[in-house]
Order: sequence, then C-alpha cells, then structure tokens
Amino acid sequence: MQTERNKILIVEDSRTQAEELRYLLESNDFIVTHALNGEIAIRMLTGFTPDIIISDIVMPGMDGFRFCSLVKEDDHLKDIPVILLTSLSDSKDVIKGLECGADSFLVKPYSEEFLIARVQYFLRNLELRRAQSDDAPLEILFGNEVYTISSSRRQIMDLLVSNYENSMIKNRELIESNKSLQIARDNLNRMNAHLDQMVKVRTQELENTNKSLKEEIEERKRIEAELIAAKEKADEGSRLKSAFLANMSHEIRTPMNSIMGFSDLMLDADPEEKERYAQIVHKSSTHLLGLIDDVFFVSRLQTEKLPLNLTEFRPAEIISDAFKMFNHPGTIKKLELRVSYPPEYDGLRIVSDAGKVNQVLTNLLSNSLKYTFTGYIEFGFDVVNGEVEFFVKDTGIGIDKKEQQTVFEAFYRGEKARSSIIGGTGLGLNIVKMVVELLGGSVGVQSEPDQGSRFRFTVPMNHQRTPIFY
Ligand code: ATP
Ligand code: MG
Repeated sequence: MQTERNKILIVEDSRTQAEELRYLLESNDFIVTHALNGEIAIRMLTGFTPDIIISDIVMPGMDGFRFCSLVKEDDHLKDIPVILLTSLSDSKDVIKGLECGADSFLVKPYSEEFLIARVQYFLRNLELRRAQSDDAPLEILFGNEVYTISSSRRQIMDLLVSNYENSMIKNRELIESNKSLQIARDNLNRMNAHLDQMVKVRTQELENTNKSLKEEIEERKRIEAELIAAKEKADEGSRLKSAFLANMSHEIRTPMNSIMGFSDLMLDADPEEKERYAQIVHKSSTHLLGLIDDVFFVSRLQTEKLPLNLTEFRPAEIISDAFKMFNHPGTIKKLELRVSYPPEYDGLRIVSDAGKVNQVLTNLLSNSLKYTFTGYIEFGFDVVNGEVEFFVKDTGIGIDKKEQQTVFEAFYRGEKARSSIIGGTGLGLNIVKMVVELLGGSVGVQSEPDQGSRFRFTVPMNHQRTPIFY
C-alpha cells in the first residue's frame, strides 16, 4: 500500500512514447516528470530527486548508458534505481547496462503490468539498497572487449533477475505466438482441405455440366437429323403429289379422250359401228371409274376406320376365283397363268375379310400382268409360321433393289414404269399395303431387275388382332 505518492523521471526522446508511459504511470498513482534527453535530465536532477528513473537508451546527444553512468557516479543520485528501456537488439546492451550501473532492463514493447510490477519492486527494495555497501569495481571480458562493472552485487542480481524475467516474458510470448501460429496453421490446413473439397465439387459439377452439354448437343443433333429427315420426307411427299397430279390428269385424259371421241363418232355411225363404239366408251368409262375408285379408296383408308366384313372362307377358293377372273386369252396375253398351293390346304378355312383378301390379290395380279411380257405368272398360298401367306410371282421387268421399299408408298411409280408407256397412278401397292395391315398381316417383295418379282402378303388364320386403321 502506498502512503506517499512516488516520483518517477522519464527520459525519452519520443514524445508519443513518453506520453504513453506517463499515462500508464499516472493511472497507477505515480507523479511523473519527463525529460527529452540525458542532458536535460541531468540538469533537472540538480534540484529534484525522483524515486525511480526510467530512461530510453537510444537518444540524440547523450544516450541512456551515458546518462545512467552520470547518475551512478553522483553520490547524491547513485541510489536512485535506473531502469533502461531496450529493444534487446544488441547482446552488448546487458554488459553496457552493467557497466553504466543500470538497475534493470525493460524490453520494448513492454507489457504494462510488467512495467508497473518492476517499478513497485524497486520501490519496495529502495531502503534495503541504501543500507548495502558497494562492492569494488569488476572487470570482465566480453566480445574481445574489457568492461569495468561498478554495479553492486545487489544491482547485478536485480539486473539479472530483470533479464531473466524479460526472457520469461519473451518465452511466454513465444509460446503464445507458437500457439497462434499452430492455430493459424490448423486453420490454413482446414481451409486447404475445404478448398480441396470445393475444387473437387466444382470439378464434379463441371464434369456433370460437360456431360449434360454433350447430351444436349447429341439430342440437338438427333432432332436436327429428324428435322432434316422430316423435311426430306415432306419434300418427297410434295414431289410425289405433283407427279401424281400430272399422272392423274394424263390417266384421266386418256379414257376421257376415248369417251369423247367415240361418243362423237357414234352420232354418225351405222348400227354395227355404233355397237363397237359403245363398247369402247363403256370400257373407257369403267377404267375411269376404277381410277376414281382407287383415289377415293386411298383417301378413305387414310381418313376413316374401314369396317371389316369377317367371314369364314377357304383361301383355295380365293385362288381359284382369281384364276377364273384372269385366265382369259384377252387378259392374260401370251403369258402362262399358274396356280400353286399344298394340296393338304385345299380344305383350310380361315376367318378374315375375303373381299379385301381378293382385292389385294387382284391388285398384285394386275401389276404382274402389267409389268410382265414373256414367261408366266404363278400365284397361290402356303401356311408359314401359323399364318396364311399368299404370293404372286412373275417373270416380268423386276424392281431395282433401292426401289423395293418405296414402291409401297402412295403415288410412287418405279423408274422403269415411269419411263415406259405403261400407265398408272402409283396407288396400287399402297392400297395393298394398307389393306393387308388392316387385316393384321404384312407385305413384302423379292425382285431381280429383268428376272421377275415375287410379292407376298400374310393373313392371320383367325382375325383377332386389333387392326391398324389409317
Ligand atoms: P397403279 O396405281 O395404276 O397401280 P402403278 O402400277 O404404277 O400404278 P403400283 O401398283 O403402286 O403403281 O406399283 C408401284 C410401282 O411398283 C410401279 O410403278 C412399278 O414400277 C413397280 N411394280 C409393281 N409391281 C411390279 C411388278 N410385278 N413387276 C415390276 N414392277 C412392279
Ligand atoms: Mg399397279
């Protein structure tokens, strides 16, 4: 407990540091006087005796060591403890401190508690120090130089203790710094790990984005290809329709011309000629009607559900009816008409639409007749994979491989057919395909150009499959 306020002299050239120190000491109830350097301080000390002096070392003019020596050489002042402020950057500071008789060191930057504790320590030991006598000066060799130490043993002890305490504090600070360093390192490791994780996640995300981009590109390519195909199909459709219109007008004009021409001739003809002309007009009208029926039928197949007239009948009977229908010298030209089916199937009965089966067979036979000039036409049926398979085979002009699928499309006419005088609209095989599918079967063709063709179509034994409606 302090009863009387103690006086402290600060010798410090930096006003800022001096003010900081003053504030600290005054807050701890000391009376503080400040001198800007050693000379001023010495002058001050002629009329005033502080209890403790705290002096900086590096100062312009007289430095701290010199100032301390002067204090310690003065009999009136030598008992005042001098604490030197050092940054401990030079190991000689301690020796020089001993030489000039300093009582203690304070390492800058100092801790406030430590400074106050030091000051209080000296105040407590003040009386004790005064009572003890000085020892004889001591010479020591340090770094090739001889130093004369005039400090008392007490002073040397104080100085060493202060140094030890300084080291302890520095050590503690070092441990603290190490701890903070370790924490910083741990944080850094954690951040690194986090960064690693983020990079991994980002990489994965990028890979995923890349993948979906690739998929999107693929999808776009696919859609593009589909669009191109659709456009080609539309172009082809429009080309076929134009060709069909040109064809139709030609196909209609031929029988129409004949009807108009012969009905005109009939006006002035004799009865015998009239009879012949009437037959020609009738034939041309029937042809025209057939043509119109075909167009109408295709359009119906495409727009409405055609009803099926299901009955039980014998395929062999369909074959024999067709044979009777086509086997006339005028129809069959010089060709041979053959019928073929396994005799054991003569009595075979199936459930389907007999009229439509007949329509398909007739269409195929008409084509064979149209496109065959020598040889024969053979037709019949067999049972294949539990279905009845009808066929019409000829030794005609044949169909090019690349056209074997397209001939079933509406309005398509083969290259050979188009370039010949043989007329047609390109609807026959399209009707065949749609009707067969309506019956639940399928169509196909095998053909060799100039060798002949073999058309086949299947019909289920018992029509029960949901038919395809166009
Ligand atoms: P139409 O509509 O008057 O029948 P078309 O006979 O030309 O005209 P499709 O019956 O659909 O039309 O036949 C399409 C094309 O297939 C024909 O133009 C022809 O080129 C080819 N074709 C069909 N049947 C035969 C066959 N038996 N031999 C050779 N080519 C054929
Ligand atoms: Mg035809």
